[in-house]
Amino acid sequence: MAKRDYYEVLGVAKNASPEELKKAYRKLALQYHPDRNPGDKEAEEKFKEAAEAYDVLSNPDKKARYDQFGHAAFEGGAGGYEGGMNINDIFSQFGDIFGDIFGGGGRFGGFGGFGGGGQQGRRATTRGTNLRIKVKLTLEEIEKGCEKKIKVSKYVPCKTCGGTGSRNGSYETCPHCHGSGVITEVRRTILGQMQTQSVCPHCGGEGRTIKDKCRDCNGDGIVRSEEIITINIPAGVSDGMQLSMSGKGNAAPRGGVPGDLIILIEEVPHDLFERQENNLYYNAFITFAQAAMGASIEIPTLSGKVKVKIDAGTPSGKVLRLKGKGLPQVNGYGRGDMLVSVNVWVPKSLSREEKEMLTKLDQSPNFQPSPSKQERGFFDRMKDLFN
Ligand SMILES: [Zn+2]
Ligand SMILES: [Zn+2]
Repeated sequence: MAKRDYYEVLGVAKNASPEELKKAYRKLALQYHPDRNPGDKEAEEKFKEAAEAYDVLSNPDKKARYDQFGHAAFEGGAGGYEGGMNINDIFSQFGDIFGDIFGGGGRFGGFGGFGGGGQQGRRATTRGTNLRIKVKLTLEEIEKGCEKKIKVSKYVPCKTCGGTGSRNGSYETCPHCHGSGVITEVRRTILGQMQTQSVCPHCGGEGRTIKDKCRDCNGDGIVRSEEIITINIPAGVSDGMQLSMSGKGNAAPRGGVPGDLIILIEEVPHDLFERQENNLYYNAFITFAQAAMGASIEIPTLSGKVKVKIDAGTPSGKVLRLKGKGLPQVNGYGRGDMLVSVNVWVPKSLSREEKEMLTKLDQSPNFQPSPSKQERGFFDRMKDLFN
């Protein structure tokens, strides 16, 4: 697919100022943010497209190349965008843009750090831990899909300090890395000087430390709280399946990217039905008279009762298939069936009168077993039963 012009993507003029670019990108990023459009692929693409455009146009060097060569400037080789930007990269690179809305507290300070410096200017972003919860669902809920409101106990940004961890917003430059967030070590080896860079352990890569800690969160920027989360469960999920909601997990210390909420599906066993993949199995019981003379019986399904015709002479164990009365395919088309096993009910105790009547009937020629060859054959019979 042909790429759209980056200026067109952000809706800005060629001579837009850094502030205008940032404002335009911020608007799009918030509109198409994955948290606001869960599961929406188109929004995700737009979100990535905007990030890519902003990444290029906000960098004077990349912008100059793009102005001269267009998209060809980044095709193949270093700096290419094969398949677009990765969502995690977007968060770690432009986290500050979302920070004050989604994470609380823009902790990167100015935006200039990303400008001409390119990759070197990037600081490490903290990430909140994932939160795991179990959701119990009945087959009725699974059949239709449902919305669940779940109370979770999790870390949220501290309101007192806006998630920054700093009291009155006071910081000082980290004395260990002098604000760069990285520690560079130079070692002499037989091959010459080796330079290694690692995240500064004193400031966690933030480049600065808090001067005066917020008293409510002790400088962490997060506090424990209870929150009610609305989860949309798609139809057709099954036991053991995991859904994830990005950004709904624990908030990160000092305004980083929140973790994900992982939802484990637990299926509550049903009183009437057994599930196998998307098919449901049901044991129906009919009387001997119904089996012999035929009848119309009611079968329960997840969406109400249906009438099913029992042919005269239906043998016990016959399986009827109710098309489409099973569960829907998760995130897809088609539905499973309901398989009804027909059982002829045999009385467990009889009165003397009943015994007399049965004895009479039992002598009638029609009541003598006379199975066909097919009925005698075990596997043939199974095939017939599952018709
Ligand atoms: Zn606080
Ligand atoms: Zn440091």
